[in-house]
Amino acid sequence: MKDSNFLKEKNARSLWHPMTHPADSLANPPAIITSAQGVRISDVDGHEVVDGVGGLWNVNLGFSCQPVKDAIARQLDVLPYYSTFRGTTNDAVIELSEELRDFYEPDGLTRAFYTSGGSDSVETALRLARQYHKIRGDEGRTKFLSLKKGYHGTHMGGASVNGNANFRTQYEPLLPGCFHIPAPYTYRNPFNETDPEKLAALCLQALQDEIAFQGAGTIAAMIMEPILGAGGVIPPHESFMPGVRDICTKNGILLIADEVITAFGRTGSWTGSRHWGVQPDMMATAKAITNGYFPFGAVMIADKVVEVFESDTSGKAAIGHGYTYSGHPVGAAAALACLAETKRLKVNENAAARGAEMYAGLLALQEKHELIGDVRGGHGLMCAIELVSDRASKTPIDKKSGGVVQDVAYRSGAIVRISGPNIILSPPLVLTSEDVQVILSSLDAGLEAAA
Ligand code: PLP
Repeated sequence: MKDSNFLKEKNARSLWHPMTHPADSLANPPAIITSAQGVRISDVDGHEVVDGVGGLWNVNLGFSCQPVKDAIARQLDVLPYYSTFRGTTNDAVIELSEELRDFYEPDGLTRAFYTSGGSDSVETALRLARQYHKIRGDEGRTKFLSLKKGYHGTHMGGASVNGNANFRTQYEPLLPGCFHIPAPYTYRNPFNETDPEKLAALCLQALQDEIAFQGAGTIAAMIMEPILGAGGVIPPHESFMPGVRDICTKNGILLIADEVITAFGRTGSWTGSRHWGVQPDMMATAKAITNGYFPFGAVMIADKVVEVFESDTSGKAAIGHGYTYSGHPVGAAAALACLAETKRLKVNENAAARGAEMYAGLLALQEKHELIGDVRGGHGLMCAIELVSDRASKTPIDKKSGGVVQDVAYRSGAIVRISGPNIILSPPLVLTSEDVQVILSSLDAGLEAAA
């Protein structure tokens, strides 16, 4: 067995972790994960836990998806790389695009533009939105709207539309012309409104007010997650996203659905937009598109946008954007195999069923633990509990106690992710009822220890 303390020292002296204070790697060394099977990961000390995080919302099919591994190995043998910049393409990416076109047909999305991950997909969608308006001669439409608490990755554009100060403050100044609307977050909101439907109406009014204030003719796009994920799993009332769609359409604003975590069945529906009965103008996807086995993403584009680009004769529609790895053949082969498995296993159905069990289990834990201020879920396998030190004042739990919940849960059999005061659960979509119970009992132990 490898010496875990030595590895932790080497880790601290040789790399920085995303979303982590560099000093933390020594003070609170991360678990060193060395292998994974099914929905379980094992660390260097031989401790095995159920993955309540699903990698990072991406390993929907678990860690043992042989068809995807085989597809990657096969493609590496045949064509490990070639570019899709002007002049060349590859057969794997053509086949994938046809499959994605079928998969997203109910969302009205017919073209794909490939990326290397979620932040790239967001950046691509924002850029294409501006270009769409410029092609049409609507040059003044450059601004972006988004939701507070929204997460859209870490590129400068994505950070600018992010709605959480943690991902913005140290990197300012960000892109000018980005404005944030209150999120339909019933537990905490500026309106003190606890009724989800009334809150959705208030947030929609705030959106309309902001559009009127900015001038509709200055806004290129609104970007939103169908269910806020990294911001703490905040499902809106069912009227919210259709309401946003309606307002965008009436004001000539493109609607970009950021479905980096919701695009392949996580909500119980195949996409988050479909979950709410909405057709976006563009959809940013990544993560589960390759089950986390290869960095890859796609922006899916609706006919309304396609027509403007493809009918342009002025030259303005030439796409001056793309990545070395756009349409990477190995990523495409992985995505093709993933999509086939995703559909064959109907993972959205298991997400809905296991998600309901998890949500019910979390509500039961709330009865028992004063630390749980709010429980959110009920839409597939994305749930969160918000921890507070005092329920009446809703004072967020301190970082140390949150760490205790996470650490004890880990030692008790499940890895869960703490983000601010929230414990976020986003396990693989193929987990069983027994796995759900392991996650719940591990959380129970963690909450007991932190009480
Ligand atoms: N958009 C959303 C909704 C996300 O949840 C994430 C990552 O969690 C991103 C964008 C950024 O994706 P990536 O980390 O692959 O760049």
